[in-house]
Amino acid sequence: MHALALPAPQGGEDKSIKLPSLFDDGVLGGITNKFYQRVPRVKYTVKEWEPDFYPAACISESQSNNKCRVSDMKVYDVTYEDCPQPWTMCRCNSAVVSAKRLFEFFARVPVKARAEIRHMFSWPDQPGLAAYAFGPDIGLTNSLQSGDRKQDMNVIIHETGHVLDQGASDSPEMLDAISKDSCVLRPYSQVSRGENLGNVMVMTYFKMIDRDGYKKVHNEKGMSCMQNQLDFMEKRYAERMTPGGTCPPRLHKNSEKKHVPGGVLTKKDLELLRRDLPEGTWTRHEDHGMYPQHDHANHF
Ligand SMILES: [Zn+2]
Repeated sequence: MHALALPAPQGGEDKSIKLPSLFDDGVLGGITNKFYQRVPRVKYTVKEWEPDFYPAACISESQSNNKCRVSDMKVYDVTYEDCPQPWTMCRCNSAVVSAKRLFEFFARVPVKARAEIRHMFSWPDQPGLAAYAFGPDIGLTNSLQSGDRKQDMNVIIHETGHVLDQGASDSPEMLDAISKDSCVLRPYSQVSRGENLGNVMVMTYFKMIDRDGYKKVHNEKGMSCMQNQLDFMEKRYAERMTPGGTCPPRLHKNSEKKHVPGGVLTKKDLELLRRDLPEGTWTRHEDHGMYPQHDHANHF
């Protein structure tokens, strides 16, 4: 175990967690490799949108940090066999995560958690950025070219944790749990309460899929130093992180379908950027190269 000294974020409350880390970053992929083989594979069908039509959220995100030209995006409705309503996903033609991998990754997110996620994106390299969650949407970028699909699943479950957080990471119950515990899962958990929740979510999912495997790791690695956090997460998320069943009603409507002839944005289109988020206070969680090394400098 070792503790990292992390700078307090500029302005606002210090949400870093000053507990030692149980694992080194990068170890988690190795631990959870086996359990991802047990994740049920949900089948799906895909329908590509007609040209020049895009969900508003895809347009907004494509323009944020110049991730992709609108005309370079393809849009897909992906219908999984456990839910009659499709999820709309956007991929930039030059993205490192192929459309098929994007669909297959999302298929492994349990359906009740999937129902809280609105759109999935696959973007080309963003300097240092692995993946992010913004509002109810998840974007995948360059870490997913690692080729280690099991490790990449950790990233997707971590991002799912951000979408499902909804204040849980800052709740009195979670703060109480942290205060009673003597470790966090990994150094990346020390960065903020939100990152901590995303990381513990991976272990919550592990337990829901493979109780025996989880128990073994828990005993061998001494995870009782974070037992209160694990218990809090299980109580709050066990149902949503259990695979199987069918989808509950979708938490968010798709963002509006926009017609953008030739992919050329008008002044009016540009004025409407970022009006697509549902009501609520949304934080952008950017995960910079979560495995194995990462840069916290731009993290917020
Ligand atoms: Zn994160």
